[in-house]
Amino acid sequence: MSLEQKVELQEGFFGEFGGSFVPPALQNVLNDLAEQFNRYKEDEEFIAEYKHYLKEFVGRENPLTYASNLTDKLGGAKIYLKREDLNHTGAHKINNVIGQILLAKRMGATRIIAETGAGQHGVATATACALFGIPCTIYMGKLDTERQALNVFRMELLGAKVVAVNKGQGRLKDAVDEALNDLVENYENTFYLMGSVVGPHPFPTMVKHFQAIISEESKRQILEKEGKLPTAVIACVGGGSNAIGAFAHYIDEQSVRLIGVEPAEAPSLTQGVPAVIHGFKCLTLLDEEGKPQPTYSIAAGLDYPGVGPEHSHLKVSDRAEYVTVTGAETLAAFQELSQSEGIIPALESAHAIAHALKLAPTLSKEDILIVNLSGRGDKDVEQVFEMLSEQK
Ligand SMILES: *Cc1c(COP(=O)(O)O)cnc(C)c1O
Repeated sequence: MSLEQKVELQEGFFGEFGGSFVPPALQNVLNDLAEQFNRYKEDEEFIAEYKHYLKEFVGRENPLTYASNLTDKLGGAKIYLKREDLNHTGAHKINNVIGQILLAKRMGATRIIAETGAGQHGVATATACALFGIPCTIYMGKLDTERQALNVFRMELLGAKVVAVNKGQGRLKDAVDEALNDLVENYENTFYLMGSVVGPHPFPTMVKHFQAIISEESKRQILEKEGKLPTAVIACVGGGSNAIGAFAHYIDEQSVRLIGVEPAEAPSLTQGVPAVIHGFKCLTLLDEEGKPQPTYSIAAGLDYPGVGPEHSHLKVSDRAEYVTVTGAETLAAFQELSQSEGIIPALESAHAIAHALKLAPTLSKEDILIVNLSGRGDKDVEQVFEMLSEQK
């Protein structure tokens, strides 16, 4: 390996995590992607176009809402909510999708592919592909297409082709494998639009770049409203993209605590071990045979046995804290935010709320918490209805 290649590879590492562990054919495609991303992320026209679509299509900047009722009720730290739920398509995922599709266009791609678990990334991708008139194929595990039939229809309504992957367990992991195979076969005209800060380099770096808009805005907003930085920023962690976006502009502010919240049922960061999955190294939940462990969170978007390499590094270097909340705590937080603030959060986001409900009363009135409300809960209302009915 030449020295230049070595430096290139180091770029994709966060401490011991990250990197790129893929076959040579795929590595060539990823090298090209990294090069193009590095070029366009500094390009003024590219940045202007990205900001244009965030404003006119996504509806940014979104508010940093003071949750006064919840704050008064808990009697501790002031709670602010970063309102990613108000974005078009109802979550943070669209920020990243817009960025990557603009890059795909510049790279001359005439076809977009993506993986999806619960379907939220697939819907965001299909939405952007409709806007830009680019044909799109979404890979989804067969089991997931059955559990999320309505999201399959949404994607098809938006003009996407959904491929049900009937291999392995028919879940997210299998969909990623199929999408990567497609990319290796069709890389000349195809762009793989990755949904979170996972996968081989440059995906974790690129997706963070496009999600960092969350903390770029929230930092400006909290300084305007309070004249000081928050005590802590709290976000839920699945693959880790909304959390890394919410943390990004605070990572160098040592006074700000960064807190990632995982489901107790899929605690990659709190209980995982270093291992390579999907072509990168991260803290991962493995079964007794050393294979990625199937997980079952009530929030489909948090159901992934691995996690972004930068979170793995922030965890082992003690820069960020990672905690878990249970399904029952999440369900209670889902109802609490709905009733006290008139905001129905996504079940994923309700994990972050659940931790804020515990933390706020232990802090003083001078403290400030920013909770990243990664998405709205309309998609989860039926599921919560069924869970609550079963409890009765
Ligand atoms: C997909 C999703 C998540 C989890 O993904 P991250 O990459 O960890 O952000 C969280 N919240 C919502 C609303 C989602 O749609």
